[in-house]
Amino acid sequence: MEPTYDVLVVGAGCAGMRAAIEAHDQGAKVAVISKLHPTRSHSGAAEGGINAALGNKAEDSPETHAFDTVKGSDYLGDQDAIEIFTAEAPGDIYQLEHWGAVFSRNAEGRLDQRPFGAAGSPRTVYAADITGHVLIQVLYEQLQRRMAEGLVVYEEFFAFRLVVDGGRCTGVISWDLMDGGVKLVTGKSVILATGGVGRLYRATTNAYACTGDGMSMALREGLPLKDIEFMQFHPTTMYPSGILITEGCRGEGGYLINKDGERFMQRYAPNALELASRDVVSRSETTEIEAGRGINGSVLLDLRHLGPEKILSKLPGSRELAMTYAGVDPIYAPIPVRPGAHYHMGGVETDNWGLTEVEGLYASGEVACVSVHGSNRLGGNSLMETITFGRRSGQAAAEYAQGASEPNGSGEAVRADAEAWVKALLANTEGERPWAIRDELGQSMLENFGVFRRPEKMQAQIGIIDRLRERYDRGVVVEDKGDVFNSDLTQAIELGYLLDVAACMLQAGLARKESRGAHSRPYDFPDRDDENFMKHSITRWQDDGPELSYKEVRMTKWEPMERKY
Ligand SMILES: Cc1cc2nc3c(=O)[nH]c(=O)nc-3n(C[C@H](O)[C@H](O)[C@H](O)COP(=O)(O)OP(=O)(O)OC[C@H]3O[C@@H](n4cnc5c(N)ncnc54)[C@H](O)[C@@H]3O)c2cc1C
Repeated sequence: MEPTYDVLVVGAGCAGMRAAIEAHDQGAKVAVISKLHPTRSHSGAAEGGINAALGNKAEDSPETHAFDTVKGSDYLGDQDAIEIFTAEAPGDIYQLEHWGAVFSRNAEGRLDQRPFGAAGSPRTVYAADITGHVLIQVLYEQLQRRMAEGLVVYEEFFAFRLVVDGGRCTGVISWDLMDGGVKLVTGKSVILATGGVGRLYRATTNAYACTGDGMSMALREGLPLKDIEFMQFHPTTMYPSGILITEGCRGEGGYLINKDGERFMQRYAPNALELASRDVVSRSETTEIEAGRGINGSVLLDLRHLGPEKILSKLPGSRELAMTYAGVDPIYAPIPVRPGAHYHMGGVETDNWGLTEVEGLYASGEVACVSVHGSNRLGGNSLMETITFGRRSGQAAAEYAQGASEPNGSGEAVRADAEAWVKALLANTEGERPWAIRDELGQSMLENFGVFRRPEKMQAQIGIIDRLRERYDRGVVVEDKGDVFNSDLTQAIELGYLLDVAACMLQAGLARKESRGAHSRPYDFPDRDDENFMKHSITRWQDDGPELSYKEVRMTKWEPMERKY
């Protein structure tokens, strides 16, 4: 058995590392568990930037940032959480900068800020178009410094069950990817920072590792998922790979055109144009494609008019991605793009310190729903959320641990049970291979629960998920029986997580009889319905599937207004 820690962080992306650093600095004995090496975490793929009202390029304030976020959330974000977020964001950016984050600078040497969708001021701090890469390196350096002071990282440990006993979380059970074996690590408190679940969809910007592990682990311990029906589709993912082309391209002045060369956003959002919020741009693109004005199921992102100098200095990574994965140099030709699953607004319900319903269990980053983003996230707000709420959850978990008793030792029984479960999974020789189920899930989610949601398709998708789950439960065959880097085993377990989250999304989506943010039902409920649906969905797992209830949105000062673009 591994030693007991004060704070155990599951996940080493921006949220997990920021939480671990803070907990350590508060004096806690900290360990981090991650199925990937920290710098391989998906946060490193973030490109465009991170939002804070610094006012370096134009007048701005935390209040304006909060208003934009509330409006962008289509009034589903909790306004007290949003106000904390925007007030604390500038300090967190300066902290990152002091740690060595090499953000791009303006002519006066101050941190530069670029315009992003639905933002009332250019407030997105950035490092060219590799912002996530820069942040993950800086946080890892800080983590390493603290490793020299006793912080421990269990790299390539695949967590698959929480230890919850007597209403308190005291540990995590993991499969050791490097050496094999089911391991228990205990902590007086646990922070889930396992990221999102984009891999539910065939077309996604998310890495293979984004499979909703933390959401499902929490769900299986009786915790609720909040607003889980809201999956954001990013408007500019490259055809055919699904790799993201950052919103920074449109922030720097890129246009979207259809097959006739028309700048079609002029028809859908005459004021905001390409910088309307992501839900609006994704819907406009889908309408164009469905009307036959696309090319190969895509529209085109045109950067040619920006000129080589701007493309090479501000968007070099995007150019390289386009050349490598679409065979297009954006200096000379437009890039084919289409909407792809990108970001989950919903997640494990937490309070403003990241605390979940279970004592000692916290969550932050994309796995969590605080809720800052409501039904639609603004570009640049997610990285900021990982940092600000990562820090807050690290602080709160460390404070809790200082006054908490030692775990009562029940983890060993959970470990033994989990070990028996893994052995049975490995021993199974009858049934099908998991990938077939995973492929059908990804394809059908895209067809039936994508940008536009039709009632009959959602209903059909519920049946599809039920049947895929039956096949999964009948038993899947893991062909690799080995101990070392058995990704066949972990992918089989991940498939169970994907099925859990998909079932919750569909049930909450079908029940939300309105169009709000990323949830668009143009054929039966085209309007936002504040009277009946300005409320959070809360989904729990009961014996026979997801069970839905609702919770009020916390409002401070912004009454819902009609959205105009
Ligand atoms: C291509 C792309 C570009 C983006 N660009 C931007 C941007 O410019 N600005 C912005 O604000 N947002 C952006 N986003 C969104 C943002 O990057 C993510 O929401 C955010 O980085 C998620 O951080 P995280 O720490 O919550 O999760 P991640 O970075 O995904 O980290 C999850 C961690 O959990 C670990 N983990 C997962 N499951 C397990 C398990 N079972 N056991 C152990 N460990 C586990 C992983 O190893 C990893 O370390 C972008 C997203 C994508 C996909």
